Amino acid sequence: LSCTFPIFFLQLFLEKYGYFSEPGAGTHSPAEFTEALRDFQRVTHLPPSGVLDAPTLHQMALPRCGTDDGDSRAAGAGRGSPARRRRRTAQHGRSCPVAGGRWPKRHLTYRVVNWPPYLPQHEVRLAVRAAFELWSNVSSLLFWEAGDGPADIRLTFFHGDHNDGLNNAFDGPGGALAHAFFPRRGEAHFDSAERWSLHSGKGRNLFIVVAHEVGHTLGLQHSPVKSALMSPYYKKLSKDFVLSWDDILAVQNLYGKPSKGSAIQLPGKVFTHFQDWNTDLYSRDRQQRSLSNYYCHSFFDAITADGDHNLYIFKGSHYWVVSASGNASDPRPLQPRWPGLPAGVDACAWSQLTGKFYFFKGGRCWRYAGSKLEAGFPRKCSALGLPRHPDTALYFQQLRRLVLFKGAKYFVVGEEPLGVEPYYPRSLRDWAGLPPGTAGALTHRDASVYFFRDEQYWKFDQAKLRVVATGKWATQLAWMGCWDANSEQVLF
Ligand SMILES: [Zn+2]
Ligand SMILES: [Zn+2]
Repeated sequence: LSCTFPIFFLQLFLEKYGYFSEPGAGTHSPAEFTEALRDFQRVTHLPPSGVLDAPTLHQMALPRCGTDDGDSRAAGAGRGSPARRRRRTAQHGRSCPVAGGRWPKRHLTYRVVNWPPYLPQHEVRLAVRAAFELWSNVSSLLFWEAGDGPADIRLTFFHGDHNDGLNNAFDGPGGALAHAFFPRRGEAHFDSAERWSLHSGKGRNLFIVVAHEVGHTLGLQHSPVKSALMSPYYKKLSKDFVLSWDDILAVQNLYGKPSKGSAIQLPGKVFTHFQDWNTDLYSRDRQQRSLSNYYCHSFFDAITADGDHNLYIFKGSHYWVVSASGNASDPRPLQPRWPGLPAGVDACAWSQLTGKFYFFKGGRCWRYAGSKLEAGFPRKCSALGLPRHPDTALYFQQLRRLVLFKGAKYFVVGEEPLGVEPYYPRSLRDWAGLPPGTAGALTHRDASVYFFRDEQYWKFDQAKLRVVATGKWATQLAWMGCWDANSEQVLF
């Protein structure tokens, strides 16, 4: 640990955000510090060195949500049992936002208790309404603003300590911007010391932060997916969709889909000003999507096929199975199918030789026989000469070996023992016509290998050893399970 950084503040930070199972001064061994730092680095997509280096310090200083990372840490690190979480929340008592739970009803009321005096009240009310609408657009929930009397969810601005426990005291500009409590406490708190804004440009965007904190009041925890609204670090309003697919799946998991029709996603440009904001303004920008085959409309992390020609498509913390007949499943969580597997894998391959699933992320790899993680995994595959962050993994029938692609190189990898074969890596030029940076590949039952990158596919002929066709996979490959999705997509 760096001796220039006060260890006391490091401890407070890691305790506040849920990286120690036992809070309290002087109770953490150096090994626990290293493990806590490693967990934090995994959640924030930094190399998990366990060392307090400059990028880690920089990440810790960035503005963020004050609610802890308990769940995203568990998803990112594949650990953190419910029992461990229970113990942690029991010790914090009421002072800590308690994970889990949902509202037993679909119609919820809210009230803005106070707001920064320099923001016009009607703009704040419209921004808050828009933030709640983000969530009701994609779930069965409905919200309305309560006049007087009780409200299910209350939004309040506070300075410093505000009777939530010292751990939750606000810290002035920067650092923790806001925090909220899981159901059914119904409270979101915002730091009055921030310079809040409802326009793009200077200041913290209040709309984005309200939308995130409302997510917590509905029962959503922090997401390990970088693009998710529910990721713990503050994001500016961008032109991208405000809710990512991961946010939508999370809220639908608790409350189900909208009662009528599909989820509606809205891009950030709809929320750049609130003077005259109303729901009709964005009718041209709304996009209805069916999440059953959401992967069809965006890019995926990895893809493979098993011996029965089922496709497995991976994105974030979910996967889809497309049967040989071209029917796509609903999105399923990676857990419990592959226990301990982190979200956002780099590459996946199913071995025809051993019938095992291989997953790669960063420098590590996982191997499963069925749903059982094999002994010795995850292991540091980069230490065996395998590339870190491989683009694509493939079981290549001709060589009876795995092939890992990374940039302009490929590696042929034996399974027993796991390791790179002699004379590799070699140049990607051996795969005539194949571009670098593919997202995944599989061997189809027509015996061709299909590679995928963004919306494009490349069909590689194993006999001719070159690419023989290319096109758009979602619309041109019926077996990718996207034909329904293509006809369902409604653009207003
Ligand atoms: Zn949060
Ligand atoms: Zn509070």
